[in-house]
Amino acid sequence: MPSSNPVIAINQRGAARLKSGHLWVYRSDLASANAPAGSLVEVRDPRGKPLGSALYSSSSQIAIRLVSNEVLSDATWARLLSDRIAAAVRFRQANARNTDSYRVIFSEADLLPGLIVDRYNDVLSLQILTQAFDREPLREIVVSSLAEHFPDASLIERVDPHIRELEELPPRESQMLRVGNSAPSSEAERNRVPRSSPAVGLGRDILDHSKTVFTLNGVHFHFDALGGQKTGAFLDQRENYAAAARYAHGDALDCFTYQGGFALHLARVCDHVAAVDSSRPALEVAEQNEQLNRQHHRSGDVDWTEANAFDILKDYSTAGRQYDTIVLDPPAFAKSKRALPTALRGYKELNLRALKMLRPGGILVTCSCSFHVSEPEFLEMLSSAATDAERRVRVLEKRGAAIDHPALLNMPESAYLKCIICQIES
Ligand code: SAH
Repeated sequence: MPSSNPVIAINQRGAARLKSGHLWVYRSDLASANAPAGSLVEVRDPRGKPLGSALYSSSSQIAIRLVSNEVLSDATWARLLSDRIAAAVRFRQANARNTDSYRVIFSEADLLPGLIVDRYNDVLSLQILTQAFDREPLREIVVSSLAEHFPDASLIERVDPHIRELEELPPRESQMLRVGNSAPSSEAERNRVPRSSPAVGLGRDILDHSKTVFTLNGVHFHFDALGGQKTGAFLDQRENYAAAARYAHGDALDCFTYQGGFALHLARVCDHVAAVDSSRPALEVAEQNEQLNRQHHRSGDVDWTEANAFDILKDYSTAGRQYDTIVLDPPAFAKSKRALPTALRGYKELNLRALKMLRPGGILVTCSCSFHVSEPEFLEMLSSAATDAERRVRVLEKRGAAIDHPALLNMPESAYLKCIICQIES
């Protein structure tokens, strides 16, 4: 059925990519590009055969993001969008049950390319990454669907100015799009989000609607969507925090701690935790998070240190310090395929030093969030570090992102997080 939407022809390489199950076509693979920014387009192969419908960006290198193998009208796409949001919400409600915080919508993995929504207790954070989702009526459909599914939650749009620039979208500030509704309808009652975290007894009268306290595995964290550090938490590590705490013991070191994600989980089971990050603002929130947890349950002290983790590992190992548990969760070292060799050298240096400093029976939790580094490459780096450190190491768990961050099988970019838990020979 003709869609009456603009047609974009792609070359053979682009068509092969879509046929392999990927959702993206790069600008260099377009044969014609005459469509308004952010429009729904019909995609055709070099012989004129329709391949489906996609969201078009007039500026990004990723020119096309497929939303369906069918050619859709605008009205059908609008219905499909609401259905996909509902399906994404249902999936999290069924599979991320014991938490008040998870990724509600994960872009391509939910077949909603360019849209990310995170839930932090009663605050939803929306990120729009493409021209298409910035346009009406898509924006309005997203906002109203979220209000329907989470009637009590506040909705905040978090803006990354760099992304808006790349997508040639006008600048926009992060903003509150919707203040949580205090009187949910009875139909909505089923999905009700608690208005405050009862465990910590903080009410709305003292916290405004963009701030909340959320809980991962029983550990409490502050979230302020509009103030301070707007980055939020690394929800993809939620299940890895719990896994790390199952093996952690003794003296622990959490490098790249950010706001204390691993460190505060380790503090519940370890005798002592040292946590390091190069960002002072992140450590300030980490300390507030520590206070929050102290009020509610026994947990060990954490020493927060502002430093470069590479320097700290070097200094501590030279000084002969030893640990029973070390966590390495650095930022993505490989931002491009070209940066891979340098990134692997960086990972190896960290892991080598950590392995040398672990006591017999010690636990290393080592992560990489660079999708350019595959799991086999990461494991190869780790085994070479173990050889150089002259330590025999056994792998206890090979983990990825939490279930609310699923990966699309034929789109390797969506499987980015590796978390290997291993143990030094006793
Ligand atoms: N483990 C954290 C997430 C880490 S994100 C969690 O689970 O929440 C990466 C962190 O590394 C950021 O907080 C950043 O400030 C920090 N960082 C980046 N380079 C660093 C360096 N050279 N030394 C120490 N910290 C660094």
